[in-house]
Amino acid sequence: MIIAIDGPSGAGKSTVAKAVAKKLGFSCLDTGAMYRAVAWRALQDGVPFDDDAALGQLARMHDIAFGHEPGDPAPKSVSIGGEDVTRAIRTAEIDRAVSPVSAAPSVREALVGQQRRIGRAGDYVVEGRDIGTVVFPEAEVKVFLTASDEERAHRRVRQNADRSIGSIDFDEVLADLRRRDEHDSSRATSPLKPADDAVRLDSTGRYIEDVIDEIVELARE
Ligand code: C5P
Repeated sequence: MIIAIDGPSGAGKSTVAKAVAKKLGFSCLDTGAMYRAVAWRALQDGVPFDDDAALGQLARMHDIAFGHEPGDPAPKSVSIGGEDVTRAIRTAEIDRAVSPVSAAPSVREALVGQQRRIGRAGDYVVEGRDIGTVVFPEAEVKVFLTASDEERAHRRVRQNADRSIGSIDFDEVLADLRRRDEHDSSRATSPLKPADDAVRLDSTGRYIEDVIDEIVELARE
């Protein structure tokens, strides 16, 4: 079974996906981390963000792997080409690089293929931008999760503090979220948008536990 959770940055997808997976005994796949890992590699190698062929080759060449601890559905680490990038992919530099890199059609083709292979191997909660529309249009449950811009920026600031990645400026985060949403929604390939049959949930001002329970109920129906 696949539960697809799509939505803009900072809507709470990761928190919700992990908790839903835990409650149902599913695994969790964070597709944003895969695009971030490719963006990180592209920056390391100095690959121009408008070079679709070179970016695609890079995405095909370097294996992305998630490290798990027994009993925890959420991966503890992410690596690309054997290099651990768990923390390196959460910086402001990657926040800026990831949208142009993920707009490259050959990067999407390579990563969508990997995502389908991973997700089809078991019961998964898959979070991203195009899971219900492109990666798993046949998903049994589809959720499009949103929240107000300000609430999303607050959450991103808190999340970075929790991950001990250092403090980031609220206004900068808010501006980046809006820039990224605009970029993700307007790109030609797999733009961010709800699937026609997605359940739309707005988490603004709601207890995250309620949102989690609502999705678990949808999966049990
Ligand atoms: O979810 P997260 O914020 O980590 O995603 C980072 C970026 O990766 C998004 O802003 C988007 O550009 C890209 N992405 C995507 N398709 C997905 C997941 C993420 O284009 N399925």
